[in-house]
Amino acid sequence: MKTIFELFTKAATTHPDKVLFERPGLSLITYRDTSELAAQFAGALATLGVEAGDRVAVQADKSPEYIALYLGVLQLGAVFLPLNTAYTKSEIEFFLEDATPRLFICDPMKISDHACVKEGVLCETLGANGDGSLIDLAAQGAPCREFYPSSINDPAAILYTSGTTGRSKGAILTHGNLASNCAALLDSWQFTSADRLIHALPVFHTHGLFVAVNMTLAAGATMIFLTQFDADQIIDLMDEATVLMGVPTFYSRLLQVDRLDRTRTSGMRLFVSGSAPLLAEEHKKFKDRTGHAILERYGMTETCMIATNPYGGERIPGAVGHPLPGIKLRIAASKSGEVLPVGETGVIEVKGPNVFAGYWKMPEKTAEEFRADGFFITGDLGMIGEDGYLRIVGREKDLIISGGYNIYPKEIEEVIDARPGVMESAVIGVHHHDMGECPIAVVVPIKGCQLDSETIIRELRGKIARFKVPRHVIIQEHLPRNVMGKVQKAALRQKYAEIAK
Ligand code: ATP
Ligand code: MG
Repeated sequence: MKTIFELFTKAATTHPDKVLFERPGLSLITYRDTSELAAQFAGALATLGVEAGDRVAVQADKSPEYIALYLGVLQLGAVFLPLNTAYTKSEIEFFLEDATPRLFICDPMKISDHACVKEGVLCETLGANGDGSLIDLAAQGAPCREFYPSSINDPAAILYTSGTTGRSKGAILTHGNLASNCAALLDSWQFTSADRLIHALPVFHTHGLFVAVNMTLAAGATMIFLTQFDADQIIDLMDEATVLMGVPTFYSRLLQVDRLDRTRTSGMRLFVSGSAPLLAEEHKKFKDRTGHAILERYGMTETCMIATNPYGGERIPGAVGHPLPGIKLRIAASKSGEVLPVGETGVIEVKGPNVFAGYWKMPEKTAEEFRADGFFITGDLGMIGEDGYLRIVGREKDLIISGGYNIYPKEIEEVIDARPGVMESAVIGVHHHDMGECPIAVVVPIKGCQLDSETIIRELRGKIARFKVPRHVIIQEHLPRNVMGKVQKAALRQKYAEIAK
């Protein structure tokens, strides 16, 4: 199996003049340019003492240089460790202490912020516009022409999880994890060098980096590389593109633009959604407006992508399809690990070349998350239907246990969301003196619609079992979300912790 770096090098050697990055209003960047810059970065990193196996932590804005830096790190056999640009000074301190990188690269504006400079962690900068000390070093020194022969079991990256359910954990991903997953996705989505991908995702997360960027580099395709999501701009770009990869909020924002229609999307061949659940309602609206069935897929930091709706067959709203080639998936009872039959809800477990090498510096946590036969326990709840499609029911940590009964938030959310005037909802469990926990709902109205908590509760009583009816319904303008569109249920639980006590 070839590594991502080898695949990129092959693409850059075969068609050096092909455009890799296209940015509206800015110059084009070819495969040759990127390969050259990667070699210069590798040279600079080597001068700074970075060796194979060393971690290089990066908190920098999205830019073609960022991707060249990623490639330069891989070229040396070092470990790329991207950090969310939203992390604050104290969060960065935690990550640097945890990851002990050889080198930390941050934005030139933030260099004075970082305590690491004082504590002697080597620090260089990379700005959004091709500026920064690392660029200067790279330009002054000699490019590195060799590459370290990484094996598929060597670590390529440490990627911290999104921190949706608790403190982020560093997932160690090997070259084999990234390359095997990339190959499975290229094949499943028929992604080739002819593709032109609209890339508007962040590049510090598995979706933007290990799905979107790796696929482009490995296929030798072109990215229309955008630093932020702008629905209007993306609709205009659809004429010149073939694929969009997005989080569900991309699609809800696109749907808010009236000119999104069949004509605008006629040149596109594929719309992908993932990282958070895509509402079935949005899937249907998008199909009605554009004729395209969004292809929803499921994955996580620890495993890269796990399952996808079919490219050729039916893409079912609310389902995430079948496991990718080479990946085994099963539904098991959480405590006993007993494998459950079709139609039953349990924890999703996976095994395959995509599954990470473990959590960084957390051997006990790693051991806890694997079954004896090597399956990784994802922590997501799901069920496989008679049709063979996987459906995600929610996260095990969001499961509500009230008076001994299991309540799946999604089941209640679906009933609330189907009600006129409701845009979306989040059902969470909060402490209850008698039941242990009880469900409450946070409901977002459609703009201009009035909602009444008592009416919603009364209606729910007629539709779902009494123990599932939220004790409180809170009407709120937005749900708290992170940049990947994930609803921050932990934040909601904290906010409303006392409401039912
Ligand atoms: P943490 O593990 O730190 O709590 P996180 O799980 O949100 O954070 P990620 O690895 O970024 O961190 O996200 C993976 C999770 O995202 C999956 O476990 C799953 O819960 C959710 N997810 C991804 N794709 C989908 C999808 N298509 N539908 C529903 N949920 C999804
Ligand atoms: Mg997780």
